[in-house]
Amino acid sequence: MAAETPVPSGLGVYVCPDCKAHLGHENGALRCAHCSRAYPVKDGFPDFLVEDLSQSTDPVLRRMRFIDRMARIYETRLWYPIVLSVYGGFRSPSLPQLVGIMAKKLRSTTGRVLDVACGPGTFGRRIASASKEVFGIDVSAGMLSQGLAYTAREGIPNVHFARARVEALPFEDRSFDAALCCGSLHLFADTVTALREIARVMKPASTLAVFTFTAGRGGVLKFRRIREWGRRDHGLHVFELSEMEQYLTVSGFEDFQPEVAGSILTFSARRRVT
Ligand SMILES: [Zn+2]
Repeated sequence: MAAETPVPSGLGVYVCPDCKAHLGHENGALRCAHCSRAYPVKDGFPDFLVEDLSQSTDPVLRRMRFIDRMARIYETRLWYPIVLSVYGGFRSPSLPQLVGIMAKKLRSTTGRVLDVACGPGTFGRRIASASKEVFGIDVSAGMLSQGLAYTAREGIPNVHFARARVEALPFEDRSFDAALCCGSLHLFADTVTALREIARVMKPASTLAVFTFTAGRGGVLKFRRIREWGRRDHGLHVFELSEMEQYLTVSGFEDFQPEVAGSILTFSARRRVT
């Protein structure tokens, strides 16, 4: 007899990413009470992505099969430290240092934390011990599976994963006490659309902590031609600080606190009280 698949934790928190109505759980799927859309729950996480990414016009999403396959090496020295040094420069912080910086920027991590484009939970898992619950979303099923393998191995019960796009988060308004976005803001097709949706699900005055890249003094990103090539061929958006501040302001954030090391930009911003 086949073993019954355990129901993933945290399912009661999700809402329909399309119409934001409540979801019922039946026959291995979450079904929207309002629009009747069904979202499968398989391999340990709900899947809110209904489109075929290989057909996407977005170059980042089209590469998803590659990103899925990369999940196993993502956190090893074969990937993360290399990316940090090549993009950010040799003075870039190490992954453990970066986790420390982000945890500090989040200030309070004791409530419910959203980890946007979480990968295998690289940052969310490492701050989970101090927080009540972490909800990680990513478009890569491979990354989420790897994240589930890590949390099972590490005995972390309070990190929940879902496959979803940043533009349509499966959460109610004002659900989160803090949000993290590490190593991915530069990959979103429309930065303001992404930031607005993140702001929607954050509580007023809560903190967003981001690690991304800027046209700084270290790594290959200091070269304008490299930045232009990254933007054109790979959908990589390297931010100017003033541009970032402007995006945050129009998306509902204030109190932009940037820190630059080489070409690595880390910052916090506060969800405006409106
Ligand atoms: Zn719906």
